[in-house]
Amino acid sequence: MRIVIFGPQGAGKGTQAARIAEKYGIPAISTGEIFRWAIKGQTSLGLKAAEYVEHGRLVPDSVTIGVVGERLEAEDARDGWILDGFPRNIEQADALEQQLGDKGLALDAALVIEVPEEVSVERIVRRRVCSECGRNYSVVSPPAVDWTCDACGGEVVERTDDHDEAALRERLRLYHEQTEPLKAYYERKGLLRQVDGMGTTDEVFSAIVEVL
Ligand code: AMP
Repeated sequence: MRIVIFGPQGAGKGTQAARIAEKYGIPAISTGEIFRWAIKGQTSLGLKAAEYVEHGRLVPDSVTIGVVGERLEAEDARDGWILDGFPRNIEQADALEQQLGDKGLALDAALVIEVPEEVSVERIVRRRVCSECGRNYSVVSPPAVDWTCDACGGEVVERTDDHDEAALRERLRLYHEQTEPLKAYYERKGLLRQVDGMGTTDEVFSAIVEVL
C-alpha cells in the first residue's frame, strides 16, 4: 500500500498516519518530522531547513524532493508506506509520480482529512509532541505521567512553529494556496479519498479504513 495523506494543520494527519502504518504494516514517513530531527541534530539538512520550518514556510522543493526520494529507497519502504506532509504542492506531487513511475510503481490512494479552519487552529494551540519519537498529544489528552511520552519516555513539548502565531498563519495560508489544489489533482487521477476529520480518533480511523 502506497498512500499520501494531507489536510490542514491539526486535521489529525500524524495521529492517523501512525494508526494506518500500524494496521497495514508500513512505515509512516513524515517530512516535517524528518526536518525537525535534522534541525535538532544540526545536520547539513537541518541547517538548510531551519529557517523555513521556523517561519512556517515550505522548505524548497529542490531539498524536499531529494530527501523524500532517498527515504523511499530505504529497505523498510520497499513494500509500501504512508507519506505524511508530502507532497505539499503540485511540483512535489509530479516529482513523486515520476519517481514511482520510474520504478514501475504507483500510488494507491491520496487521503485528505478535512476540518474547518477554526478547529484546525484550536487543535494546534492544544497540540504537544514528543521531542524524541514525534508522537502527538494535546493538553486535553496528555501523556499518563508528567509530560513524558507514553511510548518512549521522551519529553513532550509544544512545537515552536505551533507556538509562533505568525508561523501558524503562514502554514495555514500555504496549505490553502499550495496544498489544497492537490485535491483536484488527485481527483482527476481517481486517487482522492476524502474523510471528515471531526470526531474521535477512532471514528476518523474507521472512516479512513472504509475509504481505503
Ligand atoms: P509538518 O510537521 O507537516 O507540519 O511540517 C512542519 C514544517 O516542515 C512545515 O511547516 C515546513 O516548513 C516543513 N515541511 C514539511 N513537509 C514539507 C514539504 N513537503 N515541503 C516543504 N516543506 C515541508
